[in-house]
Amino acid sequence: MSNPFWSPALARLEPYVPGEQPRGRKLIKLNTNENPYPPSPRALEVLGDPQLADALRRYPDPESCDLRAAIAARFELTPEQVFVGNGSDEVLAHAFYSFFRRDEALLFPDITYSFYPVYCQLYDIEYRTVPLRDDFSLAVEDYSGPAAGVILANPNAPSGRYLPLAEIERLLQLQPQRVVVVDEAYIDFGGDSAVQLIDRHPNLLVTQTLSKSYALAGLRLGFAMGQAHLIEGLNRAKDSFNSYPIDAIAQRLATVAIGDSAWLADCCGKVIATRERTVAALQQMDFDVVPSKANFVLARPRKLGAETLYRALRERDILVRYFNKPRISEYLRISIGTDEEMDTLLQSCREIIASQT
Ligand code: PMP
Repeated sequence: MSNPFWSPALARLEPYVPGEQPRGRKLIKLNTNENPYPPSPRALEVLGDPQLADALRRYPDPESCDLRAAIAARFELTPEQVFVGNGSDEVLAHAFYSFFRRDEALLFPDITYSFYPVYCQLYDIEYRTVPLRDDFSLAVEDYSGPAAGVILANPNAPSGRYLPLAEIERLLQLQPQRVVVVDEAYIDFGGDSAVQLIDRHPNLLVTQTLSKSYALAGLRLGFAMGQAHLIEGLNRAKDSFNSYPIDAIAQRLATVAIGDSAWLADCCGKVIATRERTVAALQQMDFDVVPSKANFVLARPRKLGAETLYRALRERDILVRYFNKPRISEYLRISIGTDEEMDTLLQSCREIIASQT
């Protein structure tokens, strides 16, 4: 519907469609890659801390100094190499604005996180998608030549496929004059972080989030790490947008959560074990499963259409993600829940397949 008051650029924008977040029903929710376990108890203790009550009277630290120091300590960086934002989505928005608005096109794989084209539209960034191989693996040599930069998710979404660090390093060398953003939203579920390459590569920006492995999606806390000159660029964009600072509760909770590495290892270990068991069970049921290092799997039921299975699961109050898009329309993306939730999912798949074939 055309609206005479809207600019042509606004009319062209295509909003991002997030996974369904229904209210009020008891559902098995395996559609938005949330962590099924509660966050670190040490982080939650902060909520009753009288020091937090005092901090709430005041405006939050606009530079999130304690939190950036905690992230820097965990990754052996300096606080000047860390940028924090309200979710990695906000961090990515600043990165797109700061580094990718150029005369050439931004490169990213097809398929990948569906927010990337949305940011391009929002900020008038030209982009070119680069097809993945048939098995959803990425060929880094496809990313050479003139470009505004490169962004990739590692592990990728929604495939879950992981690109080894040696390949990331090759990609960084193919684009030495441009920023390469490695979005590591899911890295704690089995991959090695590219953070260790930051010292050697002035064009590398790594983003992470507390939404998945830390079980704090509701907190909205994401961060970027790179050499100080890139972080300075992000701060410049943030300050000129006058972005919201991180609120005092989020700063305090995130600072403690980042420091609880024992909890993180334990929780990710549980999710990884459940993922491996789920993959084996799906394969036994004749699904094709893309190898995953994330907290979800992309799987193709060979005996039944993906959309049919998606709808049948929905009727049983089990939510998984179905993408009606080229290349992945025969697949479902299934987030890894608790063992009990996955048992219910697997049993339901067995019953639905048996009744429909
Ligand atoms: N990157 C990827 C690849 C994601 O899947 C997501 C979550 N949907 C995000 C970034 C954003 O996460 P958040 O804003 O919760 O940090």
